[in-house]
Amino acid sequence: MTAVEPVAAPDGRDERPVLQVENLRTEFATPAGPLVAVDGVSFSLDRGKALGIVGESGSGKSVTARSVMRLLPKSNVSSTGRVLLNGVDVMGMSDAELRAIWGPEVSMVFQDPLGSLNPVMRIGQQVAEGLRVHHGVSKKEARDTALTLLRSVGIPSPEARIDEYPHQLSGGMRQRVVIAIALACGPKLLIADEPTTALDVTVQAQILDLLQDQQRDRFMPLILITHDLGVVAGRTDEVIVMYAGRIMERAPTTVLFRDMRMPYTEALFRSIPKIEYPSHTRLAIIPGRPPNMVDPPQGCKFADRCRYAQERCVEEEPELTPASRADHVYRCFYPVGTPEGDEALARNRASGRVDGDGELVHLAAPSGG
Ligand code: ADP
Ligand code: MG
Repeated sequence: MTAVEPVAAPDGRDERPVLQVENLRTEFATPAGPLVAVDGVSFSLDRGKALGIVGESGSGKSVTARSVMRLLPKSNVSSTGRVLLNGVDVMGMSDAELRAIWGPEVSMVFQDPLGSLNPVMRIGQQVAEGLRVHHGVSKKEARDTALTLLRSVGIPSPEARIDEYPHQLSGGMRQRVVIAIALACGPKLLIADEPTTALDVTVQAQILDLLQDQQRDRFMPLILITHDLGVVAGRTDEVIVMYAGRIMERAPTTVLFRDMRMPYTEALFRSIPKIEYPSHTRLAIIPGRPPNMVDPPQGCKFADRCRYAQERCVEEEPELTPASRADHVYRCFYPVGTPEGDEALARNRASGRVDGDGELVHLAAPSGG
């Protein structure tokens, strides 16, 4: 483990970011060849803040989270870059060191609550287990703390539920138990990966509210991963938009919604279900599919699905560029809401690549001529 110099504020508070990720790259060996699932991802997360990671399925969100947690399969993966958790390098940790940080330092909530729970173990025991392992508390103390935790995550009459098994609970209640388990050791960072995707719509909002309340009450940094840009609005301080294993745009949440630059972010935004329609029907999905990451295109990875794309986008991949403020970066030559973007869109309208409503007609990268 490599410790980094602690940075203390004048009042002694720790001012280091909770998490610093630098140039993370994770590659899987697959029968079709090497698949680079995460490529050059860098970000940091400050104390008490909530970060959203948004992108379509296959963008590399889960692999990013699992790389940070070091929760990847051992056999066919190589992961490089720097991941500092409270200043300590996670990439160099042994299995024993990792087991010691899972729970007290960082913990994770996954999409499928049933898959995260042990079907043959009472929920109270599952909540108490981490406490017994990491804090060495007595059975009685662990049970009392489990009751308090179950109550704090909104399980009604926890005394009656604590000895039940997962199958006796509804999906929403199970996810509350999973969150209680994740919170049991008082993690310094919580990562929630699509925590509500398996739940129905009304329960989704309750679970998201619960996570937000816990994050604020505990001043606990949270990474909220979702395919739905609507989920991070109002619940996160900053958002990273991912596509093809890359950060495509990163900005404070309010700035992103007001002043998005990346056509991919705009396309996700246009696909948020509108409130006046039943929320399970998606009004629009982004036409086309993400690239095959074994053999990705050389230029901008979104070019073939982008209504702004020009020839240059096919030839050259844009770097992350600062917008009008340093904490807002994006990866585009023809950004949304700029004269370059407006001209590119107008050219694509004129060529018929985009129709009169501004929708993409031809799903292919623009080529010469
Ligand atoms: P997301 O969470 O954004 O939906 P993932 O991070 O799960 O996407 O996946 C990113 C890419 O990595 C995808 O192309 C996926 O197919 C690939 N991938 C994920 N896990 C594995 C694995 N164990 N072996 C090979 N490829 C994988
Ligand atoms: Mg995922």
